[in-house]
Amino acid sequence: MRRWNGWGDDAIAYPLHASAVRFLEDRVGAAQPPADIAFGEVLASVPTSRFPSHGLISTDPADRLFHARGQSLPDWVALRSGRIGVFPDGVAYPADEAEVRELLRYAAAVGACLIPYGGGTSVVGHVNPLPGAAPVLTVDLGRLNRLLRFDETSGLATFGAGIRGPDLEVQLRSRGFTLGHFPQSFEYSTLGGWIATRSCGQQSLAYGRIERLFAGGRLETPVGALDLPPFPASAAGPDLRELVLGSEGRLGLLTSATVRATPIPEREEFRAIFFPNWQTGQAAAREIAQARVPLSMARLSTPAETEITLALAGREFLIATLEQLLALRGVRNDKCLLILGLSGRAALVRAARREALAIASVQGGVHVGEAFGQEWHKSRFRTPYLRNTLWELGYALDTVETAADWVAVPQLVRDLEAALAGALAGVDERVHVFTHLSHLYPHGSSVYTTCIFRVAPDPDETLGRWRKLKAAASQAILACGGTISHQHGVGADHRGYLSAEKGELGMAVLREFCRTLDPGQVMNPGKLI
Ligand SMILES: Cc1cc2nc3c(=O)[nH]c(=O)nc-3n(C[C@H](O)[C@H](O)[C@H](O)COP(=O)(O)OP(=O)(O)OC[C@H]3O[C@@H](n4cnc5c(N)ncnc54)[C@H](O)[C@@H]3O)c2cc1C
Repeated sequence: MRRWNGWGDDAIAYPLHASAVRFLEDRVGAAQPPADIAFGEVLASVPTSRFPSHGLISTDPADRLFHARGQSLPDWVALRSGRIGVFPDGVAYPADEAEVRELLRYAAAVGACLIPYGGGTSVVGHVNPLPGAAPVLTVDLGRLNRLLRFDETSGLATFGAGIRGPDLEVQLRSRGFTLGHFPQSFEYSTLGGWIATRSCGQQSLAYGRIERLFAGGRLETPVGALDLPPFPASAAGPDLRELVLGSEGRLGLLTSATVRATPIPEREEFRAIFFPNWQTGQAAAREIAQARVPLSMARLSTPAETEITLALAGREFLIATLEQLLALRGVRNDKCLLILGLSGRAALVRAARREALAIASVQGGVHVGEAFGQEWHKSRFRTPYLRNTLWELGYALDTVETAADWVAVPQLVRDLEAALAGALAGVDERVHVFTHLSHLYPHGSSVYTTCIFRVAPDPDETLGRWRKLKAAASQAILACGGTISHQHGVGADHRGYLSAEKGELGMAVLREFCRTLDPGQVMNPGKLI
């Protein structure tokens, strides 16, 4: 069963090796397990719904609790402490477009706000109801989860927008295709959520971000349906899909989406290369991206991330042996791990591998084969479960992400890490910070930084620590010319920073879009803009 106050299936554990716990104690200090509130106690605190009885709306406290928060750190603090604040007044699970339209009509008639809900995996407060006089209706699109059409000749598949990652892949793979969209939240996130947040999957180098995969679909808005035909390309004026991508539930509910599928690759492999230091690793990553070597993924870790990756792996003997071998090749304490993914026709994979390894070797990269890469691939959806384990030990883990051009990347990584590492100095707490570049583009890269700090005995204090970290990171990102989000979106947590990159006129255009499709301002208020 899905956890109500953490990540994932409650039957899946991610135990930490004793050496990994010692590593954390050394970097951030010994921690105390927080006293989490029990499910029954939170359930009893759900207030009476403001909705009268309606055939499509559940006012059951458990439904409302399950849809009250997403997966951001403030969401975790709220769920684990029971200080949730606002709950939706009701949750609806429409089975078809007619029911979606009825819910939109009903919300308008009773003056309710409406929050589209996919898998609830948002990490920036997208799905949280905010305080206000209007009752809140959360619309969970999980029942719109069928394959509606499949055009094998064109590779186009139309799904209900509430379909989750694994179900979508099962449908496509049984027909010899894949979407190739694998965000780390794949297990629970949905097609509609990916589109509404402009999501980016781990193998976006080959398959593209969701912008490239989303061919068209239907958006039910408060003023009618917007149909987006799936042309392969079009010069017929501005592309209205761009309106829907990243709309974060502000414009309407995406009920179906057509996506561009790819035949299952003939060969797929993941390989690891260690570089002597961050500079050589970055140079190789940039050159590989600029040479447009056809990889499916690339992830370059800083020395600090490489160190923690090896420490958490828990295989002390094997890693010590690897480190001795690397040292013989000049790769020592500052080493950086690059994981490469290659997917496609076997001949293309061979050529891409040759090209990437040749570039890497010029920068002193030592190729160590497939074992590390395959291990990364095997555990890529398991890693988020580590967050549960860490929390239960008394450590909070959060991530920030951005993207910038190659000139800006080195300084951005330095300043972002320094801002996070020093953000809790005033309260005498240490923060362990590490980074990777995970989505490489010819003209720049995403920057993904993780920080680990101690959970405070008082939940408000933990929230205070998170606020300091978020502000420090966001300011550093903007000061270095990064975007406020490369993949997680804006939601509530980044809203205050959006105008810095869109500008006044840009914000006015966005507001006007929203007003046109949602004149009553009922759709997910307080998010994005
Ligand atoms: C452990 C973890 C790992 C993650 N890894 C990644 C990653 O690798 N890449 C990445 O891009 N993101 C990642 N995320 C963030 C998150 O998973 C994405 O933002 C995802 O796209 C959200 O999808 P969802 O279905 O859960 O949407 P939700 O969280 O339910 O909703 C997100 C927003 O989309 C809107 N929305 C959802 N469905 C619809 C719809 N049908 N119509 C209109 N609006 C809708 C909601 O109103 C809300 O504003 C991660 C999150 C977690 C917790």
